[in-house]
Amino acid sequence: MMFNFDISVKKTVGKVSLGVVLGATCLFNASIAVASEVNVYSSRQPFLIKPMFDAFTRETGIKVNSVFAKTGLVERLQTEGANSPADLIFTVDIGRLDAALRAGVTQSVNSEILDSVVPAEFRDPDGHWFGLTNRARIIVTSNERMQKDDISSYEDLAKPEFAGRICTRSGKHTYMVALVASVIAHAGEDAARQWLSGVKDNLARKPQGNDRAQVKAIASGECDVAIINSYYMGAMANDEEQSEWANSVDIVFPNQDDRGTHMNISGMSLTKNAPNKDNAIKLMEFLAGDLAQAMYAEQNHEYPVNPAVPASGLLRSWGEFKADTLPLSEIAKHRATATKMADEVNYDG
Ligand code: FE
Repeated sequence: MMFNFDISVKKTVGKVSLGVVLGATCLFNASIAVASEVNVYSSRQPFLIKPMFDAFTRETGIKVNSVFAKTGLVERLQTEGANSPADLIFTVDIGRLDAALRAGVTQSVNSEILDSVVPAEFRDPDGHWFGLTNRARIIVTSNERMQKDDISSYEDLAKPEFAGRICTRSGKHTYMVALVASVIAHAGEDAARQWLSGVKDNLARKPQGNDRAQVKAIASGECDVAIINSYYMGAMANDEEQSEWANSVDIVFPNQDDRGTHMNISGMSLTKNAPNKDNAIKLMEFLAGDLAQAMYAEQNHEYPVNPAVPASGLLRSWGEFKADTLPLSEIAKHRATATKMADEVNYDG
């Protein structure tokens, strides 16, 4: 936990009680006191979001209390029910945003600002979640053992010539599930199954580890090709031990000649029972704005979701690319099938 939530909640209750005790003339003041905060549950690491929250507080005077929990946000909201102090949840990946929606712990937000700056493919059509940053699911290839144009699409990964040369994390991980769901959305279930089975046949080893571990395996010569989220290239480049992993690969933005590279998001949702709803929507709109977008995307080497905000210098150095514009809400519909498919082709076996 990043800050002590109990304390801030008690403080709020204290202000309300004071207003009630002092009588009606003070109620307005009391409501201002109550209205001056917003509570966030986040699975994003504090260092990524705290700077934007501080900027928001400086601009609006509204205090942001945040609780960090790597997992279990939805379960926590369900347990707390109507008593939950949380106004907003922050998490990564369409899978987790979609899970929160399906669990019934979010509510619709109708904001002209959000609808105008967050592209339609990166927000729920009913306003239950909005993307804040983008990540591309890129292919990286050994710069020693592969030519730059050997692979140009996700489909190429299933070609027999790459037998024993590909490394990925588990087919059940939410990043892989979203990618497979996007292939299903574009090519249909049968073609997607055939493709995933082909990729599985080409694996150099049983799926294991996180995205960075796949790049490490390329650096050590265990495999030649991996699928990872783009921001890990930035994170590894800035890490003393891992920079040599990053330096061992070239970046491929897949499917530039057709549908574009699969994109995912980090995002936010307004909770169903948000006690500080107006402040929460103000924070959502602030985070989609120019200042916060530039800060947020740079912190984690992600792309700003707001197309008016330029990416960081490092990301621009990777070059421009065509992104898949199929809405994530459509891709999310195929997640269950994608998860099942990983079992059907025994991807992790
Ligand atoms: Fe990640």
